[in-house]
Amino acid sequence: MRAAVLCQLHTTPKVEEIDLQEPMHGEVLVRIAASGICGSDVHVIHGVAPIGDSLPIILGHEGAGVVEAVGPGVTDLRRGDRVIITMGAPCGHCDYCSRGRMPFCNGNPPKATYGEMDDGTYRLSKGGQPVYSFVGIGSLGEYAVVRRRKLVKVELDAPFESLCLTSCGVTTGLGAVFNCAEVTPGASVLVFGCGGVGLCIIQGAKIAGAAKIIAVDNNPAKLDLAANFGASHCILSPQDPKELEAEIRKIAPRGVDYAFDAVGARPERLPSLMAMTDLGGLTVAVGVLGFADKVSVSAADLLYGARRLTGVRGGNGFPGLDIPRILDLYQTGRLKLDELIGATYELDDIAAAFDDAEKANHGRVVVRVTPSLL
Ligand SMILES: [Zn+2]
Ligand SMILES: [Zn+2]
Repeated sequence: MRAAVLCQLHTTPKVEEIDLQEPMHGEVLVRIAASGICGSDVHVIHGVAPIGDSLPIILGHEGAGVVEAVGPGVTDLRRGDRVIITMGAPCGHCDYCSRGRMPFCNGNPPKATYGEMDDGTYRLSKGGQPVYSFVGIGSLGEYAVVRRRKLVKVELDAPFESLCLTSCGVTTGLGAVFNCAEVTPGASVLVFGCGGVGLCIIQGAKIAGAAKIIAVDNNPAKLDLAANFGASHCILSPQDPKELEAEIRKIAPRGVDYAFDAVGARPERLPSLMAMTDLGGLTVAVGVLGFADKVSVSAADLLYGARRLTGVRGGNGFPGLDIPRILDLYQTGRLKLDELIGATYELDDIAAAFDDAEKANHGRVVVRVTPSLL
């Protein structure tokens, strides 16, 4: 099969021929129809998102497609079923899962997020060496072999280019609002960064009934998008966080109730966002940070201001619960998915697709991996 493979950090993925194994017990072979390119894929290339020594790797973790074959033990999916490949794969029986805390599942093998299967082996290779898959998905390839529990079957007859976005950007954005922050009606919300995830945080805040939704970005085109997705106020991000804080306090004089960082990569942004929240306000780190990054929080904010800081990984959700809800919101016109797509590319144009995703001038970049399925 053909896939966009990243062989070295700080280079562009290239389309290569990869060897593929049959799905084993509990696994499913999916023909990828479409895949989004997420900021985290770009962060991997730049060495910001940690992947250790898991190279070469197939990027892409926002995929949807069609079941091609099922491995032994998979009885509830069949060839031709339309599926979304989700980021989480709660095992259902570890210490966390058994207490209902699926987002923190620790029952998967250590390198599951790079494609390690439950038996400790990999399904993709080149020249006899494993090829890893980002988030255990690698949706920028024609096929992916994934655990059954990473799949959500979709009955809705919607375009794959839109459906694929639910697996990361939409689940992460809405999950940050609903599962993590639990934004309340009438609240004031600050969203830093208006890419795919940021736009979904804005949509989620709107659905939750937030009164003020303040979008911040350094790109005027993305602020126009933010307004279309439900932001009540849009601010072109100044260089100096103090200037931004002054702007925010003109809109929410006591500070906002919730601040979301949808960009990541810069841990120093988090304390500056905390300073823009009200007493007892909550700041949520949504964008990817490095494992070794440190966040320095002032005692004034933490203790005397009772300001809170937390992080959310992939929306802290349970895909089997979240994705059907997301699709219901989409189907009833309360959630925009089609409008999130900024540009589409074919797999062969992967370099241009990443270049576009890097510039981030518009909504999500989507790769039409198998056009015949679209
Ligand atoms: Zn992502
Ligand atoms: Zn588990």
